[in-house]
Amino acid sequence: MMIVMNPEATEAQIGAVVERVESAGARAHVVRGEELTVIGAIGDREHVGRLELEGAPGVDHMLPISKPYKLASSQITHGRRTVLDVGGARIGGGQFAMIAGPCTVESRDQMLGTARTVADAGATMLRGGAYKPRTSPYAFQGLGQEGLRLLAEAKERTGLPIVTEVMDARDLESILEVADAVQVGARNMQNYALLSEIGRAGCPVVIKRGLASTLEELLMAAEYVLKEGNEAVILCERGIRTFETAYRFTLDLMAVPVLQQLTHLPVIVDPSHAAGRRELVPPMSLAAAAAGADGIIVEVHSAPDEAICDAAQQLEADRFPAYMAGVRAAAELAGKRVSPPPSIARAG
Ligand code: PEP
Ligand code: MN
Repeated sequence: MMIVMNPEATEAQIGAVVERVESAGARAHVVRGEELTVIGAIGDREHVGRLELEGAPGVDHMLPISKPYKLASSQITHGRRTVLDVGGARIGGGQFAMIAGPCTVESRDQMLGTARTVADAGATMLRGGAYKPRTSPYAFQGLGQEGLRLLAEAKERTGLPIVTEVMDARDLESILEVADAVQVGARNMQNYALLSEIGRAGCPVVIKRGLASTLEELLMAAEYVLKEGNEAVILCERGIRTFETAYRFTLDLMAVPVLQQLTHLPVIVDPSHAAGRRELVPPMSLAAAAAGADGIIVEVHSAPDEAICDAAQQLEADRFPAYMAGVRAAAELAGKRVSPPPSIARAG
């Protein structure tokens, strides 16, 4: 249930509504907009039904939240889009984020070289996996702690915030010593224990859509994080399984405008893992930006043919500046701004 306060509602009236919601056994989630404050009463139907707040002081009206995801729903912010700060970089609303870097951290030269190129070309954040979800248990699993150390060095040298995957909640603390945002990979999208732990940690998180998940399931995954009081959730479309075998996955770009109707959270696109082949990445990136995505997460490597994993899909770092210019133009066409984080803007 959403309790919409009238524009003149006082802090005391808001506090009284919160108290009433909590005493009925529900949770109160206060969203303060520029003009209105909305209080989401989240709980089972029986508790919320007992509220009887119509006509209470400061209450304008009440609206049921019809979706199963409550805090992720665009209903709760009255159409206002969430803008997040990730290590100084902004994403959401009118701010487009370009998150670029290798699939996995392989070596110091590879990581620092790629980081320098993407930073100079105006990327917003740096990606790179230290813990890798591999289909085969015999494949390279990532450099782990050594990978995190190299990411920290890349961040120090470029000023770019770091996005890196967490697969096991036991690694979260050490990852957060380096990362500005963690990534929950497609294979872990429904790992509810991990999502709740990230919710409690309060860190920004990119949640990638599962290989065969519906948008509602993706939003329910986000709800696990939001429910713990962590509002810093970014959703990522990365391609889904269909009958088509001509490319790795089918990039579902319709997810961008549809998610933006359903939720206030930023929505980004990963064209690399959907495509599986680097020549498909630029056209799909342009399409994603033109469709209004809030950002792109893309794999870039200083020498992609030598990459340990996902060699065929990583963009060549030398070609990244031209690619970035194209995506920037498409994002601007959709009314977005691509800004580097302030640490870089100052240095430049
Ligand atoms: C990745 O981004 O490194 C990755 C493994 O992606 P996904 O979980 O989407 O397959
Ligand atoms: Mn990859």
